[in-house]
Amino acid sequence: MVSMRHFNKVLQVDKENCTVVVEGGVVLSDLNEILADNGLALGILGSISYITLVGAISTGVHGTGINYGITSSYVKEVTLMKADGDVITVSRETDEKTFLAACVSLGALGVILSVKIQCEPAFHLEQIRYGAKRKKVMGELDSLMARADHLRMMWYPLTDDCTVFETKRSEKPIKRSRSWFWEIAVSYHLVQFLYWLSTFLPLLLPAISWFCVTVLESQRQEIVDRSDRLFNFDCLFDQYVMEWAFPREKTVAVIEELKRWIDTTGFKVHFPIEVRFTKADDIYLSPCYAQDSCYINIVSFRPYGKEVPHEDYWKAFQDIVFKAGGRPHWAKDHTLTSEELSAMYPRWTDFQMVRQRLDPDGMFTNTNLERVLGPGIGSN
Ligand SMILES: Cc1cc2nc3c(=O)[nH]c(=O)nc-3n(C[C@H](O)[C@H](O)[C@H](O)COP(=O)(O)OP(=O)(O)OC[C@H]3O[C@@H](n4cnc5c(N)ncnc54)[C@H](O)[C@@H]3O)c2cc1C
Repeated sequence: MVSMRHFNKVLQVDKENCTVVVEGGVVLSDLNEILADNGLALGILGSISYITLVGAISTGVHGTGINYGITSSYVKEVTLMKADGDVITVSRETDEKTFLAACVSLGALGVILSVKIQCEPAFHLEQIRYGAKRKKVMGELDSLMARADHLRMMWYPLTDDCTVFETKRSEKPIKRSRSWFWEIAVSYHLVQFLYWLSTFLPLLLPAISWFCVTVLESQRQEIVDRSDRLFNFDCLFDQYVMEWAFPREKTVAVIEELKRWIDTTGFKVHFPIEVRFTKADDIYLSPCYAQDSCYINIVSFRPYGKEVPHEDYWKAFQDIVFKAGGRPHWAKDHTLTSEELSAMYPRWTDFQMVRQRLDPDGMFTNTNLERVLGPGIGSN
């Protein structure tokens, strides 16, 4: 185990070119503040900023926006310490193969000491949230995507309802009011308590879904905030998650098939089912490699840490997205091994050749990497 906790400095800020060089242990929330102080911002973020930038890059973290790639696709340069202690710096220009392997590499190539990442001039986001019927949203997906820079949808699977978040870049001043009562007392504590009750009485789940969608989520709300604050999202309490990326054009088919499975089995799934979109890229192990993608994230809450059976749901979802040509999020639950994953990634062998060159003795391989990446070509 290598701790990067104290390797947490921003080494360079280039305001003219909107780039920064940051060490491997820099946490996104700290980076967001430093960027804001310098009039810059990351162009995309996932739901949380209490992770490191390099952790996000290494696992292919994404946000939402069909014209925006995963975080790794904004990386310009990677400085990495190999297994033999040598330090190399690679970019698209200097060593494209190593660079495209390093941009999503799960720690398998070495220790990433620093990265240079492309930012943007600081910007605000304006978000309109509203409730809508699933069928209507599915029918309007393309126009919604064209209208919003960053479209996110939450489907409440035991109802026919969705909450749509249309978010676009904006020059409007910040407009956001927080309500401790609704956001903390009700949305977090009361909902967790209701989920805990549902572990004894699963029949409560449709009513909880209904409560959340009608009382908490569907009222129209318009807010404007600093980009990082609005990209981030309250993911609530302990949960298991499974998330897959699959070709964007299969979004409706996948959601309809999942709906059919839920209806026919009567399985009381947890909400929400989160739907996001991301642009294609050419990073060897990016789940969006060569395909504009829809990401669907399913959750199973663990209220007060209590286990809730979700295996059947997980398997059904995985089967559906697998058939749709999907690829799992590297940092979330899935049961695939390198055998299945290698068939999903056209540049798998290129990645393995870089891995073999940089870490010939498998110094960075661990049990998880052996499962998902295999021992590597010709590894000792
Ligand atoms: C509540 C919650 C919400 C989330 N939301 C999203 C989301 O919106 N979108 C999304 O895509 N994901 C999301 N995730 C997944 C999460 O962001 C990723 O798991 C992320 O990688 C965690 O970052 P970390 O800093 O904790 O990395 P770690 O867990 O420490 O590391 C992750 C991987 O990166 C490697 N790594 C880390 N640092 C280095 C380094 N310096 N050199 C080499 N390898 C390194 C590690 O070896 C490991 O394989 C979410 C997770 C949670 C818990």
